[in-house]
Amino acid sequence: MGDGRSCVLRARDTDADERGTIRIRGAHHVADDRRHRRFIDGERRTKRSEIDRHTVVFHSRNCLGDVRSWLSFDERLDGELHDQQRHEKPQRRGEGTTYDESMAENPQTLAARDVHGTAQQLSSHVDDLYDGAVALRRRLHEWPEVGNHLPTTREAVLESLDGLPLDITLHNSTSGIAALLTGGKPGPTVMLRGDMDALPMPEDTGLDFSSRSDNMMHACGHDTHTAMLATTARLLSERKDDLPGRVLFMFQPGEEGHHGAKFMLEEGLLEVPPLADGTASPITAAYAIHITTAIPAGWITSKGGPIMASSDTFEIVVTGRGGHASEPFRTLDPIPVACEIVQALQMHVTRRIPVFDPTVITVTQIHTGTTSNVIPESAYINGTIRAVSESTRKKVHEGLRRVAEGIASTHDMSADVSVKIGYPVTVNDGPSSTFGLEVADALVGADKSVRLPSPVMGAEDFSYVLNQLPGAMMFLGGTPEGVNPATAAPNHSNRVMFDERAMKTGISLYASLALRTLGVRLA
Ligand SMILES: [Zn+2]
Ligand SMILES: [Zn+2]
Repeated sequence: MGDGRSCVLRARDTDADERGTIRIRGAHHVADDRRHRRFIDGERRTKRSEIDRHTVVFHSRNCLGDVRSWLSFDERLDGELHDQQRHEKPQRRGEGTTYDESMAENPQTLAARDVHGTAQQLSSHVDDLYDGAVALRRRLHEWPEVGNHLPTTREAVLESLDGLPLDITLHNSTSGIAALLTGGKPGPTVMLRGDMDALPMPEDTGLDFSSRSDNMMHACGHDTHTAMLATTARLLSERKDDLPGRVLFMFQPGEEGHHGAKFMLEEGLLEVPPLADGTASPITAAYAIHITTAIPAGWITSKGGPIMASSDTFEIVVTGRGGHASEPFRTLDPIPVACEIVQALQMHVTRRIPVFDPTVITVTQIHTGTTSNVIPESAYINGTIRAVSESTRKKVHEGLRRVAEGIASTHDMSADVSVKIGYPVTVNDGPSSTFGLEVADALVGADKSVRLPSPVMGAEDFSYVLNQLPGAMMFLGGTPEGVNPATAAPNHSNRVMFDERAMKTGISLYASLALRTLGVRLA
């Protein structure tokens, strides 16, 4: 399928319309060697003149993850790129319409490419807004909220956006906020995501602005994301007249396991209206930034293909027959069987799952028994499953069930297995992540802009967005000054602290991703 640099997929049954455009049904994305992409009705178009009629070339950096994502992508489609029926396509508004590619070449848009000044000017613009970002971040940090309903947080965000030229949609099913900025020139829409929720845990950082809410803490840095996104909204609003397109700011709750992004999508997040003159302006790309103490402050990392794992939980109840501990032969003792299942699951991972498509099964709880002279009737096991491709995720679910039920049945017992589905694999679009890292190179220098060699096994509900739109998740280093990232308190620690100055890099990154996606160049 690929040599690590590019991947050629043969697309059968492609057809061309009168404009010489080739349509390839069911493809996740099609990118030509100039990274042009077209999106229509869940189908992808690319100019006949740009590629051979029956060949689509996927380009990316020399990155194993990309090859893997292509492989799993291909598996999902069972090798039938043209067979849209096999690939359930989410609906999104704007179907049947398209961003007119001539927009990119119109004189207004071309002119806009030169009007945003220099990278230094962007940087000083960020400096001007930085104090506001810190104030908002600290306010959010002091009053964290958990889950999908974050009234205090929403109020703080709305206050910070007050007076800006944004079309704001308040979501009903959650505290989500969608804020749409329409530039003075026509063009497509780019979406930027910031999550707003905290974690149910105590804070022990000793910071002046520590949490004042019992058992709630912004330990994943979402307070910084929200502050960075709101500040980016202000920065781009101040450049509105020259903006050739639109920016949709997605403030989402419930990232920490509450499926907040999914609820926002279901409530029509992507249903952006056309421009005032009726021209369509669909969302062509989506980006999210996540701060982490795993890398030095101000560094940026990402990768093409899978960047974060799926996250599912499982429960197994092994049922035997209880009795006296002195006479196990008169009972069906579930304890050794539960132990055997735990061991066998690890063997299943190493022997049945390809090493280049990794998965993790971790058993996190075993509960059974009450005292030393009683064999209990049942044993309870639970844990988590992580995978970085949807095909392996499915295989692991099946394997887990087979292993547990098979072992229990060997010992005349039963195993009741249930899997609770969590977030999907977060898969960065290859060209979008390459583009994002090129933007990062320009922003922080190539030495601080790092291509991740492998995915992170944590999970993200931005995955739901990336299942519908091309885009990328990027990590922003936030380790406090003088602290080694290897030993820094990690995200989700009760002691985690972030270097707030990293927010300057994050704001610049959000703004640059939006500007560059819309065709604006900075000198
Ligand atoms: Zn988190
Ligand atoms: Zn997080």
